[in-house]
Amino acid sequence: MKQIYKELGIDEPIYLLGKEVAQKLDGRFEEIDKTAEFNQLKVLGAMQKHRVSAECFMATNGYGYNDLGRDTLEEVYASCFRAEAALVRPQITCGTHALALALMSNLRPGDELLSPVGKPYDTLEEVIGIRPSRGSLAEYGITYRQVDLLPDGGFDYENIKAAVNEKTKLVTIQRSKGYQARPTLSVARIEELIAFVKKIKPDVLVMVDNCYGEFVESKEPSETGADMMVGSLIKNPGGGLAPIGGYIVGKKECIENAACRLTSPGLGKEVGASLGVIQSFYQGLFLAPTVTAAALKGAVFAANLYEKLGFPVIPNGTESRHDIIQAVTLHSPEALIAFCKGIQAAAPVDSHVTPEPWDMPGYDSPVIMAAGAFVQGSSIELSADGPLKPPYTAFFQGGLTWYHAKLGILMSLQKLWEAGLVQL
Ligand SMILES: *Cc1c(COP(=O)(O)O)cnc(C)c1O
Repeated sequence: MKQIYKELGIDEPIYLLGKEVAQKLDGRFEEIDKTAEFNQLKVLGAMQKHRVSAECFMATNGYGYNDLGRDTLEEVYASCFRAEAALVRPQITCGTHALALALMSNLRPGDELLSPVGKPYDTLEEVIGIRPSRGSLAEYGITYRQVDLLPDGGFDYENIKAAVNEKTKLVTIQRSKGYQARPTLSVARIEELIAFVKKIKPDVLVMVDNCYGEFVESKEPSETGADMMVGSLIKNPGGGLAPIGGYIVGKKECIENAACRLTSPGLGKEVGASLGVIQSFYQGLFLAPTVTAAALKGAVFAANLYEKLGFPVIPNGTESRHDIIQAVTLHSPEALIAFCKGIQAAAPVDSHVTPEPWDMPGYDSPVIMAAGAFVQGSSIELSADGPLKPPYTAFFQGGLTWYHAKLGILMSLQKLWEAGLVQL
C-alpha cells in the first residue's frame, strides 16, 4: 500500500500520518454507513413505489409532452423527500438557478423575503439584490430583511420575531454554512426554526437551501415543515452521474408556481424534454446515499488530519455532520493555493493542470477552485475552493469514493509539506 501511494506522489511520513488518523475513525465511519443504508432504502422504496421501468430512461425531445421518465422521476423525488410534489429538470442549470426560481416564482412585488440565519450564499446576494444586479428580486420590488445568528451560532429569536411583519411572505433558511465560519444547521435545528416562524405567521412560506445536505442525515428538511427544499444535481442528489440539473420539492402550490416560472404560465410542468440525461438522474439518485457517505468520510478524515496538525477546522474532528463541507483555515494565500493544488493533483481528470485564483461570476473576491471532475464544477466530486481573502479558508467537499477523497486529502498535505508550509 505504501508503495502505490508513493507511486502516486505521497511520501512515507504523509502516508503514515494518514494511516494513524484513519485507524481511529472506525466508529464514525460505521455511523455514516448506517445513515447511507437507511437512505438507500428510502431511495429504493420511492423507485419501487412509482414503478420505475426501462421506458423511463428513453430520451424525449421537442416539447417533451408526456415524458414518462421526467414525470416519474419527479414523483420519485417527491416520495423520497416526503414532499407533495417535485420539479427536477435539466433545464434548471445549477443550484443558484433552482433557488432563484423558487424565490422568484413564489414572491410577488411588495412581498418581503426574510433570512433568519444571516447572510445567504454569495451567489444569492445578486439574486436577492443585496448586491445590485440585473433582474434581482429588488428590481421587482421585493424587499429583503436579514437577522444574523447570535455569536454562539444560536437563532436570534427575539429579532426574528421583530423582523416578521405583514409583508413577510417567504423565509429562506440555508442549511449549509457555504463560505462562512458558522456551523451548518442540523435538520433538527431547522425544524425548530420553522416551527418558530410558523407560530408567528402561519401562512409564511419557508424555503430551505439544502445544497450539500441531501442524505447526510436520515431525515431531510422537507420532512420537517418546509414548504420548499431546493438543491443542485451536481451536488449530493445527482450522485456524481447527473451532468446538470436542479430540484425543488415541496408543497404542490409552490412547485406549480416554480414550474410556471421555469417554462411559462399555462405550460408549467407539461413541457421540458429530458433529452438523454434522465437515466443518469435516476442512477445518480440511486447512488447518492453511498456517494454522500464517501464524501462524508473524506470530510471527517480531513478534519481529523488537519486538526492534528493544529489548523482550525469546521466542523471539528468529533462533531456531528449536517453537510459534506469541510472548512480548513490555512492562514495564508500560499497555503490555500498549495492545498488546492494537492486536491487537483489527485484527480482522475485534469490532474496535470494547476489551479489559479480567478474572478468568478457571482463572487466578490478572487476564488481558487480545484476540481478534476467528470462534470464541470461538480462539487459532489472531490473539489476544494476558497475565496482569496483572510483567513484563507479552504472549503473542501466531495469524493465519489472514499479512497479518492483520502488520496486527495493526503495530496493536499503533501503539497503543503513540500512547500514548507507545515511541520509534521
Ligand atoms: C452550491 C451552493 C449554492 C449554489 O449552487 P450552484 O450550483 O453553485 O449555483 C447555493 N447555496 C449553497 C449553500 C450552496 O452550497
